[in-house]
Amino acid sequence: MTRWLDAFFGVATLALLASCGVPPAASPVAPQGAAAGRDYWGHRPGPRGFNTVIIDAGHGGKDSGAASRSTGQQEKELTLDMAKRIRSELGGGFNAILMRSDDTFVELDERVARANQHGDAVLVSMHFNSGPQSLRGPETYFWRVDSHGLAVRLQQAMAAVNPGHSGNRGLVRRRLRLTRNPEIPCVLMEGGYLSHPAEAHLIATPAFRQRLAAAIAAAIRTQAAVGDAGTGPLPPPLTEPPSRASDRRQ
Ligand SMILES: [Zn+2]
Repeated sequence: MTRWLDAFFGVATLALLASCGVPPAASPVAPQGAAAGRDYWGHRPGPRGFNTVIIDAGHGGKDSGAASRSTGQQEKELTLDMAKRIRSELGGGFNAILMRSDDTFVELDERVARANQHGDAVLVSMHFNSGPQSLRGPETYFWRVDSHGLAVRLQQAMAAVNPGHSGNRGLVRRRLRLTRNPEIPCVLMEGGYLSHPAEAHLIATPAFRQRLAAAIAAAIRTQAAVGDAGTGPLPPPLTEPPSRASDRRQ
């Protein structure tokens, strides 16, 4: 019993340390190849005062992503449009970098490598969703502990602009290549469902996309100003291996 309790409190202490942003002692050593000075696992509170925002337009080139049967629009066009709108809404206070600025195909691993070239940065990846026709509303994916606060802000911001939801998953912790593999805070956003006819028409409206971009930019500015304040407790540390192409479709 005593040994069981020792083990229990040992785990509890580790969890407490982790919740304070200190990586648990049992945390595996970051594999070689992680750049010096990087937080490979992201086991710390979210960033504050960062200067660089890398805006990733999902898909591109030969990879069209999802397509709307209602409007005929392709996800790759909408994500590029959104990336440019987010950059302009961020204004001059940030060094905003587009992962792609035209209809080019960029491998996911290459996107990770490009993101890792920047310090003091966050990565936001823009997508639009597809699924059963009843689903609608924004979803946000994160994995790293240091990406939780930004993910909460981005999901709240998108939901405020488009409150429509029907069975969507909201904020989701999921190990994807663009949420697990970068060595900087990183969040993947789904701005709504192209498979939902009414939502596809909403997304097709430039004024809606501008409102969505403005809300996303405001969430990024708030994160830079106050860090994780007000976004709730940090999630537990996780040390799953990097995501690979064979893991699941992204
Ligand atoms: Zn996508």
